Amino acid sequence: MHKHWGLVKDTNAVAWLTLDKQNTSVNSLNKEVLEELSAILSILHEDKTLRTLVITSAKKTGFIAGADISQFEHLENSDEAMQLIRQGQLIFEKLSQLPFPSIALIRGFCLGGGLELALACTYRIANDDIKTRIGLPEVLLGIHPGWGGTVRLPRLIGAPQALDLILSGKTLPAVKAAKLGILDEAVPERQLMNAVDYYIKKTPPPHTTNIFQRFTNQNGIRPLLGKWVNYQLEKKIRRDQYPAPFKALETWVKNGVDNPQAFVEEARSLSELIVTDTSRNLVHVFHLQELLKSQAKKVDVKPQHVHVIGAGAMGGDIAAWCALRGLTVTLQDREARFIAPAIGRAYDLFSKRLKISSEIQAAMDRLTPDIQGKGVSRADIIIEAIFENLEAKQNLFQSIEQHCKPSALLASNTSSIPLDEINQVLQQPERLVGIHFFNPVAMMKLVEVIHGEKTSEDVLNQALAFVKQIDRLPLSVESHPGFLVNRVLMPYLIESILLLEEKIPAEVIDEAAIRFGMPMGPIELGDTVGLDICLSVAKNLTHYFGGTVPKILEEKINHKQLGKKSKQGFYRYQNGKKISRKTNFDDYDLETIQSRLILRMLNEAVACLREKIVATPQEIDAGMIFGTGFAPFRGGPLHYAENTGYKKIRDKLFHYEQTLGPRFTPDEGWNNLISSSQEEETAAA
Ligand code: NAD
Repeated sequence: MHKHWGLVKDTNAVAWLTLDKQNTSVNSLNKEVLEELSAILSILHEDKTLRTLVITSAKKTGFIAGADISQFEHLENSDEAMQLIRQGQLIFEKLSQLPFPSIALIRGFCLGGGLELALACTYRIANDDIKTRIGLPEVLLGIHPGWGGTVRLPRLIGAPQALDLILSGKTLPAVKAAKLGILDEAVPERQLMNAVDYYIKKTPPPHTTNIFQRFTNQNGIRPLLGKWVNYQLEKKIRRDQYPAPFKALETWVKNGVDNPQAFVEEARSLSELIVTDTSRNLVHVFHLQELLKSQAKKVDVKPQHVHVIGAGAMGGDIAAWCALRGLTVTLQDREARFIAPAIGRAYDLFSKRLKISSEIQAAMDRLTPDIQGKGVSRADIIIEAIFENLEAKQNLFQSIEQHCKPSALLASNTSSIPLDEINQVLQQPERLVGIHFFNPVAMMKLVEVIHGEKTSEDVLNQALAFVKQIDRLPLSVESHPGFLVNRVLMPYLIESILLLEEKIPAEVIDEAAIRFGMPMGPIELGDTVGLDICLSVAKNLTHYFGGTVPKILEEKINHKQLGKKSKQGFYRYQNGKKISRKTNFDDYDLETIQSRLILRMLNEAVACLREKIVATPQEIDAGMIFGTGFAPFRGGPLHYAENTGYKKIRDKLFHYEQTLGPRFTPDEGWNNLISSSQEEETAAA
């Protein structure tokens, strides 16, 4: 009897090997699961009566999600990592050397180590369900594939497509993976077993590369192709921040796909990456993501129909996102002309994400313009995204409350108005919750779920579950001014504008932030969000917390320079692209600029922690990473502060307080952090 694997031999001499990892809902590969697999493979190798092995999963959640991440965290050094990786490689090699064909039968996700296992099989057959995803997302954890993925995938489909997947970590739907040759078949569930049967009986030749693809792996070509791919990578990421894709590329260039040494080199490279700070911080980020998902408890009701009011930048994109995730959506605005652009953007989103025309059409059919607001009386959840104006929102909710279903969830996307002000006009104020999306909706995974003093727990739980239902990450936040993310972000944005007022060029300020690891500099971010929106959030926050709004921001608005949307903000934009001036960064003190920007953000994050805007420092880190893209390889603002040393950061704040004034005064919260970390040190000693 095996603990994790089930082995059944049928009357047609087919061995069915099913992974059902004990005590988990998701299959992942750890030492124990692999060692059991190894023992089973030894038996199968000796069985002369067998004709095929089919490997599949007993889990509803999918095939195999990858290697068990918790294993990495306990690795002390790269030698230990090397041992574990080599052990896995040798087991997959044993699978690939079976004296009869093997089939990976895939339903749901097949990722990382799961795909590497499938790549060691002769054939890969999957259903074409929307939940089936194929890929090697290891780089997202600061590592690269290590159980043969960087060798077998380029060998199977050629280097360009394989490197694209390995270096980006993106995952593919089954149909796309089959087109590339990663899967031999991607068929509807009803035909899946017929396809497996065909491969068992006919044993067609395994998929192999075409001439061009083979050519890309050759000795003379790899260095040239490698150089080009490296150049492309450097345009997107920095080697000192995200070394894993560069190392994966180097391993492939050096060893190719036919040399057995390639596996050893892959393992060596991975074993070095696995113990780096980047990888440890990205694993921390992975846990943050799980933490947010776990905020959504199970609830009985699952909304099917969403009604969105306000088809502007946010409402239009929220509606499109909900339709993409399979919900029926009605979208209301004052006139048809306000809805039309949102429908156009929705079509672009569906085309990009769904690719198959019947699915694009189905998503379009789920999204209905609704000027008269007929959806209000039918919807399970109503999301308001009209102008940021208290009276307008109150009037709207008053009318909604009269016409909606008694069970409908009432949500506002407000970014600054306290819920307890909006809900004053409601007969049942406990029904109102904030569901605060970030711009652009399809890219920013975070959604702040805001509860006012009156919001009922049941409503809050339903809202958290809804956010998870539409595949976003919910963060429960109290209704304080700026909530969490905008409040922490705003001092950073304001500092960037103060630097502009000191005549530091926008390009230099943005470069300083990008060198820290931000996806975009603060000046460009302000332009992208819209300077009018920045101004209204800044005014709102300074109203509550003091400070001043930089004059230059008001001047921009007065001149109708609102940012990207008006083609002119702090930058000029042509065809949606920013026009930068050539700048010699060496002429500026980038380190000080970077410190000023980041310290403001860290100080505000500590203030939010002290005020318990969210429950834990991890939630602040998660909010800033998934809501703003805060340098993931640093693990979030508070994780970064902890790694750098709380005292060191507070001292720097003191220094800037002396030279630049009270906006740098360290928050009292630093004292708590310093004393609690010292307590731990004493306890450990
Ligand atoms: P927007 O100006 O782009 O769109 C607002 C839309 O609401 C307009 O199309 C308008 O015609 C419509 N509208 C106004 N009153 C209406 C009414 N009574 N009935 C029906 N439609 C009405 O605004 P936006 O940027 O999409 O912001 C909408 C809300 O989302 C605001 O509360 C804002 O604070 C919040 N928000 C904005 C962002 C952002 O980055 N833009 C991010 C998060 C939250």
